[in-house]
Amino acid sequence: MKITSAEFIISNSQPEKCPNEPLPEYAFIGRSNVGKSSLINMLTNHKNLAKTSARPGKTQLINHFKINQNWFLVDLPGYGYARVSKQTKAIFQQFITDYFEKRQQLVCAFVLIDIRHEAQKIDLEFMEYLAESEIPFMIIFTKADKIGRSKISANIAAYQKKMLANNWAEMPQYFVTSSLENTGKESILELIDQINQDFFKNQIF
Ligand code: GDP
Repeated sequence: MKITSAEFIISNSQPEKCPNEPLPEYAFIGRSNVGKSSLINMLTNHKNLAKTSARPGKTQLINHFKINQNWFLVDLPGYGYARVSKQTKAIFQQFITDYFEKRQQLVCAFVLIDIRHEAQKIDLEFMEYLAESEIPFMIIFTKADKIGRSKISANIAAYQKKMLANNWAEMPQYFVTSSLENTGKESILELIDQINQDFFKNQIF
């Protein structure tokens, strides 16, 4: 898929106020600093699309971008941890879970994972939440340029092993990307194009 247009539409914290056009949408989420803005800019061929919404405060909102006039790319806030007395607890803000639970247009979520690090509990918990909520999702490994080719395969194998050890039946579909080297983009856009075609063919809405 060739990106011919990408425009910022709206930021908000209420799923009810998100655009109500019947277009398929794809959510991008991950821990902060995972490389989400860079990935969104790479996918859309923009230097600063994701930063447009990153004016102070805006990174904590649901940001809708309309792509090629026929699908939405949604930039969601990074998730994190909160310290509850002596324990650390994963926090997924209420409006984010509301978004996932209410947004009928959402056809696929992309969970971003920094390929350098071993599987983190919070990412696994978030994916568990998506699976339990029956939300289709895939993994996008980011920053692949930071490690060598053999380490990429080794890290993915280790990730898969950890997921299987955490009761997953299989590793979700995944992509390996580098925004610095502009790689991994075509396969993601191809997949989105495919899902879009099915969406419009079946006239889901
Ligand atoms: P966000 O907080 O998830 O939106 O992350 P950013 O896109 O702002 O990236 C966080 C940091 O990682 C920045 O310093 C980026 O330059 C860097 N970064 C993001 N993607 C890549 C990548 O693919 N390769 C490398 N080497 N650095 C990256």
